[in-house]
Amino acid sequence: MTARIIDGKAIAASIRHDLKKVVDEMKVKGERIPGLAVILVGNDPASNVYVRGKRRDCEEVGFKSDSRSLNATTTEAELLGMIEALNNDPTIDGILVQLPLPEHIDPLAVMEAIHPNKDVDGFHPYNVGRLVLRHPGLRPCTPMGVMELLNRTHDSLLGMDATVIGVSNHVGRPMALELLLQGCSVAATHRFTNKTEEYVRYADIVISAVGIPGLIKGEWIKPGATVIDVGITRDANGKLKGDVEFEEASKRAGWITPVPGGVGPMTRVSMLQNVLYAKQHFHS
Ligand code: NAD
Repeated sequence: MTARIIDGKAIAASIRHDLKKVVDEMKVKGERIPGLAVILVGNDPASNVYVRGKRRDCEEVGFKSDSRSLNATTTEAELLGMIEALNNDPTIDGILVQLPLPEHIDPLAVMEAIHPNKDVDGFHPYNVGRLVLRHPGLRPCTPMGVMELLNRTHDSLLGMDATVIGVSNHVGRPMALELLLQGCSVAATHRFTNKTEEYVRYADIVISAVGIPGLIKGEWIKPGATVIDVGITRDANGKLKGDVEFEEASKRAGWITPVPGGVGPMTRVSMLQNVLYAKQHFHS
């Protein structure tokens, strides 16, 4: 068997195209366009790249983009004050604070300061709680993007066995909750799991979000399974690598995502979808 590739780049482009159409219609009707505020504290080069990417995405679909760069000595109180002002700004539907933050700022305090209806990262305890309780509102972007890929490649996920490797708060855990919500039986595995191979061999859907290249061996994949590789690691030559042995896994899987070009573009576009959702559901 040779797996079919799930082209996240193309799917994300088609979603951005649809988002732009919605925004164009808003403009024709004289409605306010969706607005995203992105706050960057400090000068981390990778964060700078991500923030620039988010601004470009906003421009492409026609959202208002409000980028704020604060220097690394900004106090937590100053940052919280800025968030409060954006919470009350009627032209802003989503607020993103780029992580990581300087050490003197508590990321949890920042996350909780963003109004849940403007929490387009989906990290606020209120939104996480809604997902746990099976009434999702704004959803964490990476798992949301993965669900879009799964729903575009499967008629139904009901009754499927899914294994999620890696259980971080913003990727693996909400990923497991999303899969439960769609009727999968879910194994959530992590650094202390003794039998990762067995959990992978059993799964109809394998989702790896660890950040260790080659951790998931191709020969572990059940024939016909769907493999979603969230992991992104830059190797010594600057090449991006996923967690899964892509070549070997492709010989067994039914569907597989590449790295890059799989989950990454979906994470970015899910955030845009959240901004539109926030505008339409909470701020119109
Ligand atoms: P994290 O470090 O917060 O969490 C890693 C998880 O992997 C933890 O739950 C840990 O227990 C588990 N783990 C560690 N070693 C393991 C092992 N040997 N076996 C099984 N599990 C193990 O990482 P994160 O922020 O969730 O990111 C994970 C990966 O996904 C990284 O490569 C990151 O760059 C990537 N990522 C990609 C996207 C995207 O859009 N494609 C988005 C977010 C993160």
